[in-house]
Amino acid sequence: MQEIKLELTKNPKEKPADQSKLGFGRIFTDHMYVMDYHEGQGWHDPKIIPYQPISLEPSAMVFHYAQEMFEGLKAYHTPDGRVLLFRPDRNIQRAENSCKRLCIPPVPQDDFLNALKTLVRVEKDWIPTTPGTSLYIRPFIIATDESLGVHPSHSYKFIIILSPSGAYYASGLNPVKIWIEDDYVRAVRGGIGEAKAGGNYAASLKAQVKGEAGGYAQVLWLDGVERKYIEEVGSMNIFFKIAGKVVTPQLNGSILPGVTRATCLDLCRSWGMEVEERRVSVEELVAAARDGSLEECWGSGTAAVISPVGTLRYENDVMEISGGGIGPVSQRLYDTVTGIQTGKLEDAHGWTVEVK
Ligand SMILES: *Cc1c(COP(=O)(O)O)cnc(C)c1O
Repeated sequence: MQEIKLELTKNPKEKPADQSKLGFGRIFTDHMYVMDYHEGQGWHDPKIIPYQPISLEPSAMVFHYAQEMFEGLKAYHTPDGRVLLFRPDRNIQRAENSCKRLCIPPVPQDDFLNALKTLVRVEKDWIPTTPGTSLYIRPFIIATDESLGVHPSHSYKFIIILSPSGAYYASGLNPVKIWIEDDYVRAVRGGIGEAKAGGNYAASLKAQVKGEAGGYAQVLWLDGVERKYIEEVGSMNIFFKIAGKVVTPQLNGSILPGVTRATCLDLCRSWGMEVEERRVSVEELVAAARDGSLEECWGSGTAAVISPVGTLRYENDVMEISGGGIGPVSQRLYDTVTGIQTGKLEDAHGWTVEVK
């Protein structure tokens, strides 16, 4: 493991006074982590430096061919003053998988974890403390070769920035309205849907704008070939409770394998619920909504943890779920996951990692 050089700021910023107005991803902490890659040299010179602009040539490959990946996880304050990460090993493994798909040399896993821990430790006074808040961690890698030739870059930058984030739900869990998109698609099997890559988000914006214009918070994607099977939401995986069973689309190569998704599956199984990872067609959903067997629906992702879905719209069918409110499994998952993340509930699964 490589030693991280520390270059700390002499001009720390003022921390936000009102933790109820943090929002998401708008404020950044005093420092960032940077490590460079050059072919022949590998990943080298990890350092923590003051948060600052990066200088790149206009010809840098990332600007033209989007050779980029990112991750997203959070650090939480516990009531007794400890700092916890939640399943960082999962994010680090997923980052490695994303890198491999995008021809980016993966960061050694121990350097990655050390980077997360060291940066969070340096910035621990930035972790907000009020209920529902956390420190969002955004690691990403960009291709920096100065060349317009289409081939994998020979040089990269791995950067981590941190952003204190507000409670996703200012007033408790709130059900969202979701638009099932049947025209645009996000990803196809064999593409990069399974990688956490900026390019997937570029592809998603058009439908997101369309959904928002119709009053819907997020888009639920269908498969890219038949537009028949449910994939996932904008930045969340999707779960249904149909006739007593917890159902989620199986990982098929075009769905992002969420850490929160895996956590929901683990918890529901540990509670003795019947769980199915399988193909779910939109027709099945519409039929289940009609006959009343669609009991619950929720999204899962690091930002919101659990996002109950109160309304699903597919073409002209507007389906109200759980009476437009929050179902009991959604609520239980939210309470349990956030309880473990913030050290309020016992971590029987060994999911949290303390930053000391
Ligand atoms: C990050 C992400 C998710 C959720 O993953 P988590 O690890 O649970 O945060 C789901 N879908 C997409 C497209 C994502 O980028």
